[in-house]
Amino acid sequence: MKEKLLNESFDLNYSEIKGKISIAALKSGRTYEDITLLGAVKTVSPELINYSVEKGIRVIGDNRVQELISKEADVTKNVEKHFIGHLQTNKVKDIVGRVNLIESVDSIKLAEAISKQSKKLNITTEILLEVNIGSEESKSGFAPEQLMENIEKISKIEAIKIKGLMAIPPICDDNSQNREYFLKMHQLFIDIRDKKMDNVSMDILSMGMSDDYETAIECGSTQVRIGTLLYGTRNYNTIKEI
Ligand SMILES: *Cc1c(COP(=O)(O)O)cnc(C)c1O
Repeated sequence: MKEKLLNESFDLNYSEIKGKISIAALKSGRTYEDITLLGAVKTVSPELINYSVEKGIRVIGDNRVQELISKEADVTKNVEKHFIGHLQTNKVKDIVGRVNLIESVDSIKLAEAISKQSKKLNITTEILLEVNIGSEESKSGFAPEQLMENIEKISKIEAIKIKGLMAIPPICDDNSQNREYFLKMHQLFIDIRDKKMDNVSMDILSMGMSDDYETAIECGSTQVRIGTLLYGTRNYNTIKEI
């Protein structure tokens, strides 16, 4: 009964979000197919994750190493996995080889650690660079004005490949302020793409969450990361007790 309710509410959320993504994509001269909807699955049960994949979610993202590992055996292999949270260098060995993309590379030191572990496993790991677009003390990520020089350095590191940029803009009360940050991110994305650097392809611009994904898409986001709006409020543990 509980599971049926969760699934039904997922269906409703998913179809509403798909419609809104389509409209926002059209406003930026694109279509639904140009946008990736990543399911941000923190605290979501493996059952509901698997149901969402059955219904069409192709990419999921975890932001906690421990949770990703503990759910791994129960989550379908039939889905692309991203790591989207802050990654400590001492946890790199637990993540490299486990996910298809690490979205939240926020320092050269972390890029080097990912490289080292990738070489050990004889693989290349794809990454995004996280940009602290609002220059907030509390947030990690590269400062926008230092992004270019850091990209040049990271692009020379072996066994990793830069696929794009990711950002979590400051929490804003009004959408016009958000828009400024998203547009600034899009400009950085375009500027870097135009440089055509070796080992750097600007394919993914990951920005936009439950509260601001439509604005993000209108400003050029290629991937939105949605948790609460898609899966419901975060209550994996409490749901189990109902
Ligand atoms: C949780 C999370 C999201 C999704 O947030 P919602 O507001 O629930 O949509 C997106 N990105 C990251 C990095 C997250 O940790």
